[in-house]
Amino acid sequence: MERLQKVLANAGIASRRKCEEIITAGRVEVNDEIVKTLGVKVDPINDIIKVDGKAINRQNKIYLLMNKPKGVITSASDPEGRKVVTDFIHGIKERLYPVGRLDYDTEGLLILTNDGDFAHLLTHPKHHVPKTYHATVKGVPHGSLLEKLKSGVQLDDGLTAPAEVDYFDVNPVKNESTVTITIYEGRNRQVRRMFEVINFPVIRLKRISFGSLFLTGVPRGKYRYLTPKEVQGLM
Ligand code: URA
Repeated sequence: MERLQKVLANAGIASRRKCEEIITAGRVEVNDEIVKTLGVKVDPINDIIKVDGKAINRQNKIYLLMNKPKGVITSASDPEGRKVVTDFIHGIKERLYPVGRLDYDTEGLLILTNDGDFAHLLTHPKHHVPKTYHATVKGVPHGSLLEKLKSGVQLDDGLTAPAEVDYFDVNPVKNESTVTITIYEGRNRQVRRMFEVINFPVIRLKRISFGSLFLTGVPRGKYRYLTPKEVQGLM
């Protein structure tokens, strides 16, 4: 048995707090009886739960792979009114949560879902999903510096775990180079901070893969649904 507000929130109706308001407003029925009190426990599988007379869809789990543009906040809303990732999603009324974060200026692969357990699982520090980025810097860092990133560098919040690092592209005309880096952690601004340690600040950062998923075929600002197999493969 689970609390009614949790079952409603898990079905993507609204946040748990908002679901409490929906319950106390008398908009929720359980087995054809209006339930207005909070804390009532229900059987999430067998009880028939309706909001405004419409049965909730408990199986409606959504998993999206988005190509986040830069200059967008990884959040469902922003108090300052800046563009957020969910502004790019159309026709989905369920609340979607980003799985981990990309910085405002980072672009690339971001997963969005209404499955809180899935998001929690994948962002847990014990879950070492490989995440690959293309980091562009001015100049060309020496191979020994890339070796340093590979074996681990000291950040404010501790030594980084071993990473995979290699040159991806060197552009002598622009005097820029792009490095492919795969990390197995998800600390705040981790890639940018790692490159700051070797004195090659990142000027462009793009996440190109997350676990077994790649960005290929999804234009900037667009998204696609993950297949059940892809979802399964991440767990
Ligand atoms: N590392 C960063 O520095 N920024 C991101 O957005 C993701 C990883």
